[in-house]
Amino acid sequence: MRDIDECMSDECRAEQEQALACLALQGPAGEQDGGDGERDFERAVSGRRLDARDAKPRAADGAEYQCHPLRESELADQPLGLCRVEAAEPPHEHRERRAGQHGNRDERADGLRHECNYTCPAMRAVDVIRRKRDGGELSDDEVRAFVAGATDGSWPDYQISALLMAIVWRGLSLDETVVLTNAMVRSGDRLDLSEFDGVPVDKHSTGGVGDKLSLVIAPLVAACGGLVPMMSGRGLGHTGGTLDKLESIPGFRTSLTLPEMRAALSKTRCVLIGQTAEIAPADRRLYALRDVTGTVESIPLICGSILSKKIAEGIGGLVLDVKVGDGAFMKTADEAKRLATWLVEIAERNGVRTEAILTRMDTPLGRAVGNANEVIESIETLKGKGPKDIEELSVLFAARMLMLAGLETIESAAVSRVRSALTSGKGVEAFAAIIEQQGGDPKVVDDYGRMPKAAAEDLLLAPADGTITAMQAELVGRAAVALGAGRDRADAGVDPAAGIDILAPVGTAVRRGDPIFRLACSDPARRPAAKALLAQALEIGERVGASPFVSPVIDRITGRGAATPN
Ligand code: URA
Repeated sequence: MRDIDECMSDECRAEQEQALACLALQGPAGEQDGGDGERDFERAVSGRRLDARDAKPRAADGAEYQCHPLRESELADQPLGLCRVEAAEPPHEHRERRAGQHGNRDERADGLRHECNYTCPAMRAVDVIRRKRDGGELSDDEVRAFVAGATDGSWPDYQISALLMAIVWRGLSLDETVVLTNAMVRSGDRLDLSEFDGVPVDKHSTGGVGDKLSLVIAPLVAACGGLVPMMSGRGLGHTGGTLDKLESIPGFRTSLTLPEMRAALSKTRCVLIGQTAEIAPADRRLYALRDVTGTVESIPLICGSILSKKIAEGIGGLVLDVKVGDGAFMKTADEAKRLATWLVEIAERNGVRTEAILTRMDTPLGRAVGNANEVIESIETLKGKGPKDIEELSVLFAARMLMLAGLETIESAAVSRVRSALTSGKGVEAFAAIIEQQGGDPKVVDDYGRMPKAAAEDLLLAPADGTITAMQAELVGRAAVALGAGRDRADAGVDPAAGIDILAPVGTAVRRGDPIFRLACSDPARRPAAKALLAQALEIGERVGASPFVSPVIDRITGRGAATPN
């Protein structure tokens, strides 16, 4: 973090100095007359920063001062940065606010605290863009000005986009990313779910193909006594989205008001919804611009985007599924590990116990890629009849969520608890209850004929004898989009019945002409493009023996505050 002077234009500096001089003259409570102006000025300067690296203990008049950064989590309800200045005698807090006023004084009855509301200098967008363009580190205020400008519309699209691109090229430090995330959380409301018993926990995936884990995990955790306020997204690009899958259930509503969300949580202990208007509005604008300016692929921006929504939903525990491979945003384990480490660190600094599990996304998860067909596969998994990869990951993620919620302390016990929710049918009952609570038809869990069905189907056949050695997830995802199951543009709709069923997964020995993919799509014009992509996704090699099951789990990153895997 740079010195205050380095990050300001002349006019801003003049304004800041005026404010600090005002603060210095005022002095801390009880020292208004005859106070040590220089010391107070120093305190004010150090009080301005969140970072204490530059703050030196002072020994003027025998009292020692040390500036301590507050965790950003402690700032959740503060409008701007707060730095506690501790002295041997007496302690003070200096607070800065966005307000244009200087020198407001707010003494508590015990006289140990005063507040200094001084102007946070208005940042010129172009100065912030230039600094990042040239590889500089942004001050906390600059990062906040950017988020505020995105939220209130005072920064136009072109300046936001320019800064986003500068961030993609130059990066953000971990400290800058913490400030970015916190500012994005505070662009809207941070929900308080303390009226419910238990620690609210959630799971988030960085996005994959055939990834229906949330539909299995959330009911399982609720069936085991957990509280799951899950806010998910829609499919974009080649990856699917939980909301699109849920909306394929006739009547299911994913946009609830906050009171409806609370009512659902108290009835079923789980709610499966989209981001409400109150949650991280900055992300809505930033994400929409990132999507069309080629600025999605940035670890700091992904961290801010994912975590602002998750932190704002009021959770105490989070398990992240960081996908790695051809079908994921992160193509290599190194990149994914870096993203996972940052996500965990930033979430934990915001008071959310967090861990990340790195999982493979080279081939689609399970056998269904689409919407209605993925819901059916999720229900089958909840009945104990799902594909092995989906079941293994669902049980592991649900178990870790129970641990983060404090419902279990030993992973093997958590796993047994989740498995018994699968075998007893409690998981599928919980899913039916959630569907009913959110306006959907709960009978779909027993009658798949109630789910949307495409008017026509087609098959892709094996072109040769051999063993299926690869099925590239991204191409399968793009084929599903070509059929209408996903979207190319954020505002496009999806066909809930369109999708792909994998009849012969990787490792299967096939003969020429055996069916490998079933394509469901009512619009025949969409099928040729999808078939071409699927044919490209497929690799058939020499006939070999049956391949052993390979666990989709690659690695785990556990936060300092989270339970250690055992
Ligand atoms: N998912 C999000 O919500 N945001 C990103 O930036 C990437 C994936």
